[in-house]
Amino acid sequence: MKIAIIGAGPSGVNAAYWASYEGHDVEIFEMKEKLATKPCGEAIFNEGFNYVHFKPNETKSVLSYVENVHVYYEDEFLLEANTKPYYGYIVNKSNFLEEILNDAIDNGVKFYKKRFVEVIDANKYDLIIDAAGYIAFFARRNGLSYNGYKLAPAIRGYGISNDIRDDTLYISLFKYGYAWIFPYGKNKCNVGIGGHVNSKLDLENRLQKFLKKFNVKLTSKIEGAAFPAFGPLKRLRQNNIVVAGDSAGMVMPISGEGIRFALFAGKFAFKNDYEKIFKERYYNKLTTGVRLLNFWFGMSKEELIKAINTLDPKTLVEIFIDAKIPSILKMIKLFKDINLSKKLISLITSNQ
Ligand SMILES: Cc1cc2nc3c(=O)[nH]c(=O)nc-3n(C[C@H](O)[C@H](O)[C@H](O)COP(=O)(O)OP(=O)(O)OC[C@H]3O[C@@H](n4cnc5c(N)ncnc54)[C@H](O)[C@@H]3O)c2cc1C
Repeated sequence: MKIAIIGAGPSGVNAAYWASYEGHDVEIFEMKEKLATKPCGEAIFNEGFNYVHFKPNETKSVLSYVENVHVYYEDEFLLEANTKPYYGYIVNKSNFLEEILNDAIDNGVKFYKKRFVEVIDANKYDLIIDAAGYIAFFARRNGLSYNGYKLAPAIRGYGISNDIRDDTLYISLFKYGYAWIFPYGKNKCNVGIGGHVNSKLDLENRLQKFLKKFNVKLTSKIEGAAFPAFGPLKRLRQNNIVVAGDSAGMVMPISGEGIRFALFAGKFAFKNDYEKIFKERYYNKLTTGVRLLNFWFGMSKEELIKAINTLDPKTLVEIFIDAKIPSILKMIKLFKDINLSKKLISLITSNQ
């Protein structure tokens, strides 16, 4: 097949690699000069590496291995936990994407940088993959339904601190989102905050307070972006156009994690049964993530803290990373609270 890919983010470069590896004739267009200019926390859950052609120990882009988390609520310490069997990596995303893209180019892919795609001659290609990220106007303009697709803002910067461990994620929750400090190699950190608020100033103020706690000195500007926060599109294909990654809403609503799903989508976007593969692997997880997000929004601060303190850390990690709704047995202590038990029952019984 002759394939055009719009955007060289995780979904685009991975699609370029795997499609060319399977012998397709691929062109990829990126509007920016450099890769990964969109701000990101750069944390990749281990599962994400199942979809790329190298292992974490075979790439120089991995800066930190993480398997612990410290959780705060509005900067008040709640718990620390080992996250295993879940673990992950913080990468230099620009190097990570470049590595995949360079190997794709070695496979014969044609890469065009500084090429903003607004229209494309659909007759010239058998398949067009819209991997253009959260703005996602190409597939939308060409008739794909973006019903229910909504964005949330997030900001990110870099800093240094001697008060963080290099195998630990630091997270401070608030009613509508969370701030993070992720290790970024020795003494460096990737910091940011995302949430369902309208005010960038509110996000910045919350982030600054959390950074103060760890004596983080910023070494970059704070930059803003957004992520699709309310689950994946129902359809991923319209004629010879498919969507992958953020442009398909493939982000875990409760955590904002999207690289794992973008890499997955890139690996399969050019297959005939792409929609079926995605439905079987991640569709339900991401839509359950929407239910969990709504449940989080519906809880008071006290209820949220109670739930976090009552559930065991492994269950909390499963909720956050894999959108697993805990069994009634695990939640039994929470049912003693009348208000909370009503909300839990509606979470368990609701279908999207
Ligand atoms: C602040 C922030 C922090 C985040 N942190 C994490 C995290 O720690 N871990 C995680 O898993 N996820 C995180 N995410 C989500 C993650 O960044 C995205 O889900 C992921 O990058 C999506 O990959 P993608 O390839 O679909 O899109 P993108 O990464 O957005 O890539 C799209 C590419 O297309 C290019 N492009 C756009 N339009 C055009 C056009 N018309 N023509 C040509 N090129 C075009 C863009 O320049 C870009 O390079 C975060 C998001 C934000 C906003």
